[in-house]
Amino acid sequence: MDGAKVRAIVLGTAQDGGYPQPGCMSICCERARSDRSLSRTPVSLGIIGSDGTCHIIEVGRKIGEQIEIWKGFGGFEWPLKSASITHAHLGHTDGLRLLGREVMGARGITLHCSESMLSLIHQTPTWNILVEGGVISPRPWESFISFEPSPDCGFTITPIPVKHRAELSDNHALLIRGASGSLLFMPDQDSWQETLEGSTIREWLSSLGADSALIDGTFWSSSELSGRDMSEIPHPTVSESLELLGERADDDPDISFFHLNHTNPLHDESSNEFAIVRSMGWKISEPGDVYVLG
Ligand SMILES: [Zn+2]
Ligand SMILES: [Zn+2]
Ligand SMILES: [Zn+2]
Repeated sequence: MDGAKVRAIVLGTAQDGGYPQPGCMSICCERARSDRSLSRTPVSLGIIGSDGTCHIIEVGRKIGEQIEIWKGFGGFEWPLKSASITHAHLGHTDGLRLLGREVMGARGITLHCSESMLSLIHQTPTWNILVEGGVISPRPWESFISFEPSPDCGFTITPIPVKHRAELSDNHALLIRGASGSLLFMPDQDSWQETLEGSTIREWLSSLGADSALIDGTFWSSSELSGRDMSEIPHPTVSESLELLGERADDDPDISFFHLNHTNPLHDESSNEFAIVRSMGWKISEPGDVYVLG
């Protein structure tokens, strides 16, 4: 493909449970059941290399719908050349088995992940069979070491370790860097304090060289989950992130919130909370958002 550009397309924006979330009969999800255009699939990013190859970040159970979004945008080519996975939690990995014999019958998709994620794959028979059958070819990354997901794709991925409940695997944010731009993909983190280690969000993004960032926007506020202990599922709230960020200045990175829990009022474009984020100059991710990176 001559003169083609590296592009990243947001395919999913919801937290692992998706929106609407199974079992939630409250107004947050009933809204999305009565108007399916409001529904959202768990976080995922498609990347088209400068050579036309296709790569995905996170392999969730809604990969079928996500490929439809990608096809609508253009540039989708099957088979995928590579997949990268940030960590083992449900919505980030529960589509892996769709790559196998029962559904897509893929062969030799390079799977980029951490050593810790890879050892979980080997210990999990329903995943290991994908490795043994040649469906996926795992290639473990090293933290902070940039790699090209396939030769000549025109972009690199740099895994940045980020603390997040590690009962199954460790967790990485992924920095995607093309010739003219870079995008950080960070769906999950426990806290800004642990991630930033004393720096500000702006300093941290600048040290990574990230022009744009998709960041953990799971919950709007800490009072969001009635009846559940939120300390069991730690995430900085969007309110807290906004307090740390303040208003956006012209030379600030382009930051967009995603990985939204079904309870998050940011799913509703007419909410006050949505208006607050926009008025401060930040964004809420939508499927089909495009980042030109090279
Ligand atoms: Zn998640
Ligand atoms: Zn709900
Ligand atoms: Zn997680």
